[in-house]
Amino acid sequence: MIRDNRDDKKKHKNCSFCAEKIDAVDYKDAARLKRYLTEAGKIIPRRITGTCASHQRMIATAVKRAREASIINYVFD
Ligand SMILES: [Zn+2]
Repeated sequence: MIRDNRDDKKKHKNCSFCAEKIDAVDYKDAARLKRYLTEAGKIIPRRITGTCASHQRMIATAVKRAREASIINYVFD
């Protein structure tokens, strides 16, 4: 097996919420939430976005709320 050691050198967090010191994800902030959604409106896994576990959970909750409030669509065009 070839070991993928890409992460060995860059250990700093990639989580933009941590970087901006945001404690809570605002479900009304559609522009931000959409960065974490695929074109199909699905939440992008955190191993791709680099979001930390706690913020990823906040995003998931915020996305659900935003959908219920019709701020973001369930499926994008
Ligand atoms: Zn974070």
